[in-house]
Amino acid sequence: MKKIILTGDRPTGPLHLGHYVGSLKNRVALQNADDYDEMYVFIADTQALTDNFKNPKKVHDNVIEVMLDYLSVGLDPEKVTFFIQSKIPELCELTMYYMNLVTLSRLERNPTVKQELKEKDFKTSIPVGFLTYPVSQTADITAFEATIVPVGEDQLPMLEQAREIVRSFNNIYGKTLVEPEALIPDSAVCRRLPGTDGKAKMSKSLGNCIYLKDDSKTVMKKVMSMYTDPKHLKITDPGNTKDNPVFIYLEALATEEHFQKYLPNYKNLTELKNHYERGGLGDVVIKMFLYNVIEDVLNPIRQRRHYYEDNLELVYKYLYEGTKKAESKAAETLAKVKKAMLIDYKNIF
Ligand code: ATP
Ligand code: MG
Repeated sequence: MKKIILTGDRPTGPLHLGHYVGSLKNRVALQNADDYDEMYVFIADTQALTDNFKNPKKVHDNVIEVMLDYLSVGLDPEKVTFFIQSKIPELCELTMYYMNLVTLSRLERNPTVKQELKEKDFKTSIPVGFLTYPVSQTADITAFEATIVPVGEDQLPMLEQAREIVRSFNNIYGKTLVEPEALIPDSAVCRRLPGTDGKAKMSKSLGNCIYLKDDSKTVMKKVMSMYTDPKHLKITDPGNTKDNPVFIYLEALATEEHFQKYLPNYKNLTELKNHYERGGLGDVVIKMFLYNVIEDVLNPIRQRRHYYEDNLELVYKYLYEGTKKAESKAAETLAKVKKAMLIDYKNIF
């Protein structure tokens, strides 16, 4: 079987450190390992509209932001096909057919959707499009016959839903679709990076993010005002490192080289954590260290971003060509689906 990698992001804002550790890093590693047949990375504007339908400008403007982020982290247009979801109408058509294979109660049970509904406060006015976005996500995945989907933990229920739809389709209409598998980061802290406010997830919609495009001054401000341990009032107080996003970010990002470079009195994070937990280590020291680590991660990303910001015509070209290529692949899958469902009417058309 072919190894086909696919993932996407919603253009609801620029990409942040949660995306970086949760999914982008894995994508770049997969791309560079060169052990795959096809790789697709797409901008999910149709999905973003399901909860931002009153705000089309936000979605429109963030399409290019997200594409710039992709190129900035090192995704390579020679190796990756980039595309814009709404430019591929075949995806809507597939969604329509898959809708028959899912019940309303199954959609309502999806824990990620449940959590998002709570955060968005739709109350009883839940848009049908939002509730059914896992179905359209199944169309995105299956249209490209993706076998591997590198995502953060919040996407596991979506992948489970996709697998159920694939199984159901293949049972009814004969083996046509490919079952995808999620690829989540090995490290638990990277699977769901918390927000700077200490909330469970850094998320564009919650406004608790450090963006890959933030400049040094903004990063400094955000890090210095980060939530830590509210009980760690005096330096001598023992501190909690467990639910402390500063330590969680360090776990996700800091290497031993970072310690040698910026905090040579400590060999690694375990030593730093032990000191904080004992008491006697102030928040400013660890926040300064975190700032330096984040700067080291972001500097090469910023440099590549500046290059592409100055060469936007290149960025448009990658999107244009990628979308054209992706559409022909989606059309092939749609043809297979229609044939399996006996709606290709070959003898007439
Ligand atoms: P929105 O708030 O609009 O849903 P988001 O910040 O959740 O935006 P998405 O575009 O929904 O971002 O997610 C894109 C990918 O990034 C998904 O694979 C998701 O699992 C991953 N991801 C998003 N936030 C995090 C996070 N805080 N930690 C780890 N992975 C994350
Ligand atoms: Mg999300």
